Amino acid sequence: MTKGMQGRFLLLYGSQTGQAKAIAEEIYENAPHHGLQPEIHCLSMTDKKFSLEKEACMVMVVSTTGDGEPPETATKFWRRLKKKTLPGDHLAHLNYAILGLGDSNYNNFCRNPKNFEQRFEELGAKQFYPSGFADDAVGLEVVVEPWIDGLWPVLRKQLGLSNSDCTSNGVMEPTENKAITQSTGDDSDSGTDVDNPYGHRKSHQDAEKRTSPDVKTQTEVATRTISNDNRTNPTTLNNDTENDKADANQTSTDSRTSSLTQDSLRTSQSEGETVVDSTQDKGPSLTCSVPPLSESGLTLPLLPPAYLEVQYHKDLVMSPDQLALQGSASYPSAQSAVSMATIVSATKLTRDDAVKTALDLELDISDAPIDYQPGDAFSIICPNPSTEVDLLIQRLGLIEQADNVFSLQLIANTKKRRATIPDYIPKTCTVRHALTHCCDIRTPMKKAVLRMLVEHTENAREKRRLQELCSKQGINDYGAFIREGCLSILDVLIAFPSCNPPLGRLLEHLPRLLPRPYSISSSPLVDPKRLHFVFNIIEFPHSYGRAMARQGVCTGWLNHKTQPIQQQVSTDVKGQDVEMNMAALSISEKIKVLIFARTNTHFRLPEDPSTPIIMIGPGTGVAPFIGFLEHREMQLNKVAENGDDTIKFAPSWLFFGCRHKERDFLYRHKLEHFVKTGALSRLHVSFSRDATNGTIAPKYVQDNLRLHSTDVLDLLLEKKAILYVCGDAKNMARNVNETLLELIGKHTGKGAYDATLILAKLREEKRYREDIWT
Ligand code: FAD
Repeated sequence: MTKGMQGRFLLLYGSQTGQAKAIAEEIYENAPHHGLQPEIHCLSMTDKKFSLEKEACMVMVVSTTGDGEPPETATKFWRRLKKKTLPGDHLAHLNYAILGLGDSNYNNFCRNPKNFEQRFEELGAKQFYPSGFADDAVGLEVVVEPWIDGLWPVLRKQLGLSNSDCTSNGVMEPTENKAITQSTGDDSDSGTDVDNPYGHRKSHQDAEKRTSPDVKTQTEVATRTISNDNRTNPTTLNNDTENDKADANQTSTDSRTSSLTQDSLRTSQSEGETVVDSTQDKGPSLTCSVPPLSESGLTLPLLPPAYLEVQYHKDLVMSPDQLALQGSASYPSAQSAVSMATIVSATKLTRDDAVKTALDLELDISDAPIDYQPGDAFSIICPNPSTEVDLLIQRLGLIEQADNVFSLQLIANTKKRRATIPDYIPKTCTVRHALTHCCDIRTPMKKAVLRMLVEHTENAREKRRLQELCSKQGINDYGAFIREGCLSILDVLIAFPSCNPPLGRLLEHLPRLLPRPYSISSSPLVDPKRLHFVFNIIEFPHSYGRAMARQGVCTGWLNHKTQPIQQQVSTDVKGQDVEMNMAALSISEKIKVLIFARTNTHFRLPEDPSTPIIMIGPGTGVAPFIGFLEHREMQLNKVAENGDDTIKFAPSWLFFGCRHKERDFLYRHKLEHFVKTGALSRLHVSFSRDATNGTIAPKYVQDNLRLHSTDVLDLLLEKKAILYVCGDAKNMARNVNETLLELIGKHTGKGAYDATLILAKLREEKRYREDIWT
């Protein structure tokens, strides 16, 4: 058993996109304020840096990926833990707590952390604090924050430390100043803390005067209480006016031709003074708060310590193509090297009056080492929109330095523990490169970032509002005005004109810009050097406090890039080649994208074509099934050519759904063609928004499953079909799952419980496969 310093415990994380790691690091950062000393490790370090067999107390933060699986970094740890040879008391010495991250849009919410929990119990470990299961669909912070708050006193007790010198929240009171307390909202609370400008109830201006702009030297406690004694109420900024200006200038919904002009941005920056405007009479907004929040004492999160310093090298000149795209960082789920592909065609599969625009792109992958199978996905490395990058550079006051080379250093004596320079920012970089290719500038603002911004905001009311938005008391406003609209750093900086964070602080907080995965909608048997994929162009309207309308980072970029070659899908399948004129072809030679293949083990056609398949894929979820069916058609052709009658092809059924038959029936002609050639045995299509003229018609894929339930269940349960579901995780995949439960329950006559077991068994046997995304 590891012996060591007082308050020591093992802190583990298993992270796929970095969220679990960030939360574990937050626990690590805050632990010393509670008298605790974690030793932190990634789960991938099992047996290299830590061994559970030697630990008495462990806290784990772990996420869920794919179909309820562990993140890649946790697979080795999980494999070892699962070994059947381990005795029932293998971890009897271990006390543990788990914080799981998941997304309830998916069927197997937090299945991975739940599996860990179950396995720890089987191996005799004892849970000293109930598991938290945080849901990305509603905001991880809803569970994460109270879970961490509750962890401290229990953990101290577990480690044999007294809680008598802690507040009710488990916070160690500073020995030099016992006056710092939890926020009570009570005016009589009048502690003082000279090191901490917000450590007691001060007038807001007073607090501001004392705020040191140099965060490196600021003394922090884990929570702090502030109030708004000047009672300006409501706290109202001038930015609604600013947004109105932006609104008035709005001419396009394309973020790349954003209406937020440079002039309006300059205006917002020069208007440093805040005026209370007519929104006083309205309810709260991003920049305006009303009682009780505007009058409340506030408990703020810990100020994340600064750790990155930007050093410019004026004499060093580098062209953009000399800069390593994302430094030395490897790409998640990559199964091939990153390589260049050429977009050779872009076909709009929807009519102009469709609710969403779907584009089919064809890539020439001759130069890419990608050897794909139908059902595989690949990732596209995309940049942030240049208009937003330019606005951000301007807003940060970095126009002059934007193309100068800088390098990042760790601040000497930083208070951040385990500080490292992000590996996805090249060692020599420029501001423009970092904000275009390395950092996710659209990420919804986390409370820790708002907390950091407070320190760089001059205007008292803006400062107070930012404090409110990141405070415990402001949780509802945070949800309504930041999270709901997924407000980005640019949205917040435009709304709070006196906020001017230094670049280093932003680079500490903006996460990595991640590639976007897409399912391949073609078969290599048609052409191994070409692949197709299909996507909807994501539109975010100018609402919810966003500074501008915008399109999805990747889909907006691809849409913008392919404008010169976009063509409408032909109603005549043969006619499509004619439409692709030579001019478009020569332009397309220049349209390049960086891609890599993704790992895929489960979403493939059965090796034996005599296994029946049921495919459920509304909207762009039809993508992999187009690949399956092209493949099957080629196989059928080959068998016919060879006159080989030993190979049997089982039925293949597709359930497709869209809004309108005439507007967004993706790949309609291809699908009808597959039915004609026999590659597809049955095609069931539902239209959710077409008038039915009084007849009852299936609206969604699950309605068609119901309508054909006897045949579906016969194929699935008796003929051992494989069922594939692809597309929207938010509603569709769950509805399909629930419908199947209901139908199986009725069909077998055994009810809901047995139906659940049957579906679980289908999943286990890999006969119920999902490829879903939000
Ligand atoms: P982003 O800029 O990433 O914006 C989308 C994000 O914005 C959402 O993730 C959400 O966080 C946020 N958001 C959602 N709604 C709102 C809102 N109302 N307001 C503000 N923010 C909001 N997509 C396809 O179209 N076709 C495919 O074949 C396909 N295959 C995939 C396969 C896999 C394995 C995975 C994981 C995903 C797949 N996707 C597919 C999804 C795809 O990767 C992208 O997520 C999608 O195209 C959006 O990318 P984007 O960069 O344009 O949007």
